[in-house]
Amino acid sequence: MAVPSTATEIAAAVRSGGTTAVEVLEQHLVSIGERESEIHAFNLVTVDAARERAAAIDAAVAAGHDPGPLAGVPVALKDNMCTRGVPTTCSSKILEGWAPPYDGTAVSLLASAGAVMIGKTNLDEFAMGSSTENSAFGPTRNPLDPTRVPGGSSGGSAAAVAAGFAAMSFGSDTGGSIRQPAALCGVVGVKPTYGRVSRYGLVAFASSLDQIGPFTHTVADAALALQVVCGHDPLDSTSIPEPLPDFSAVLDRGVDGVRVGRITDLPAGADPDVAERVELAFDVLRAAGATIVDVEVPAFTYGLTAYYLIAPAEASSNLARYDGVRYGLRVDADDTNAMYSATRTAGFGAEVKRRILLGTYALSAGYYDAYYGKALRIRRLMANDFAAAYERCDVLLTPTSPSVAFPFGSKTDNPLAMYLCDTYTIPSNLTGDPAMSVPFGTGADGLPVGVQILAHALDEPVMLQVAAELERAAGGST
Ligand code: GLN
Repeated sequence: MAVPSTATEIAAAVRSGGTTAVEVLEQHLVSIGERESEIHAFNLVTVDAARERAAAIDAAVAAGHDPGPLAGVPVALKDNMCTRGVPTTCSSKILEGWAPPYDGTAVSLLASAGAVMIGKTNLDEFAMGSSTENSAFGPTRNPLDPTRVPGGSSGGSAAAVAAGFAAMSFGSDTGGSIRQPAALCGVVGVKPTYGRVSRYGLVAFASSLDQIGPFTHTVADAALALQVVCGHDPLDSTSIPEPLPDFSAVLDRGVDGVRVGRITDLPAGADPDVAERVELAFDVLRAAGATIVDVEVPAFTYGLTAYYLIAPAEASSNLARYDGVRYGLRVDADDTNAMYSATRTAGFGAEVKRRILLGTYALSAGYYDAYYGKALRIRRLMANDFAAAYERCDVLLTPTSPSVAFPFGSKTDNPLAMYLCDTYTIPSNLTGDPAMSVPFGTGADGLPVGVQILAHALDEPVMLQVAAELERAAGGST
């Protein structure tokens, strides 16, 4: 029997004895063997541990036990998620030689659900970037067109699913790092509500914005993934102490009566091929019974500016811990200050240094009110504007990324051009609301376009419901 490719099918087949976790794993290892040297989705493939783990899952099934809802599903983890005894590099030289002494909460939950961890995926160094070109270990290629970027910062995780190296992967999203690479690689990517997934064991970039979420082939797989990794965790003080809804229950419900918002003052910048697909998404939803509602979100346009003050400010503080004493790399020098400086000079790449400098400046005496303080006020305005919009609609629809996957090197000389990739994704990080990207046909050069669905805090079910409708329609039209 052919090994199924979606996580839902794999888990069902492994649980019922229709296939084995070992067979599923070996099939994915064959795909990795065929294309990983070209794609470079992984910093590390944990072949031996994965084989042991898959055999243990099969032994459990044979003994009449249920390994859980992700039984035998090969899962790849972004290399900023802490895995006990397994190197966690953040694609940075500064963490060289470091392996965490513990598993992050999401990692433990995946293991308890029967998933088979297959490896750690490449990212922009410390998750700062939109193309995975900022990795200290070289870029990841887009499996759909290896001359193009996979997006970022979770480019390795998106590519791993798109290339069939893993049935499901996880990334982190601080300003779009799950949704944008999902769009560019043609897979589903979800940023849950801030606080839905514990950040315990996620290496911090900007703590008030960071959120873990899944990459999957289908919306149903995304719902399954959320059911496993979401939930209250006392180890993360920002984790939400709310019971979880059944994320899969609504997927077949259709969109009759759902109010879908169109943001009339959305910042311009999406390429025509992308804008056209988003228009088609509105048409499809309207035809399926949804009501399209025009709304204004005036603060949307300031999101990028506020983010590039708040995120670097938090990063400058979070990254102070990499000092040559506690983690990874140390470059020896005559005294302690010189050692700090030599270590950080050698260990951090150019983009990380740029963020630390920007953040330190924005927080410095005399500038704090003008920059950081003002950015916080924009964040408040943004939350008010979105809350008002969600009084009148259930979800909002926008492009995920302004363009399809772009060629290597096309934005590396111009940080602002790279930052503009995040125009449509950043606002939901600032407000904490959930948002996701669902593949919806193709644009320029036959490359995938992602439509972004945004919802109010804790409203993942209606977001997934709309995504499922677009997925059904895309299945018919592409
Ligand atoms: N591309 C954005 C940045 O560079 C977002 C990154 C992220 O979400 N981790 O900051």
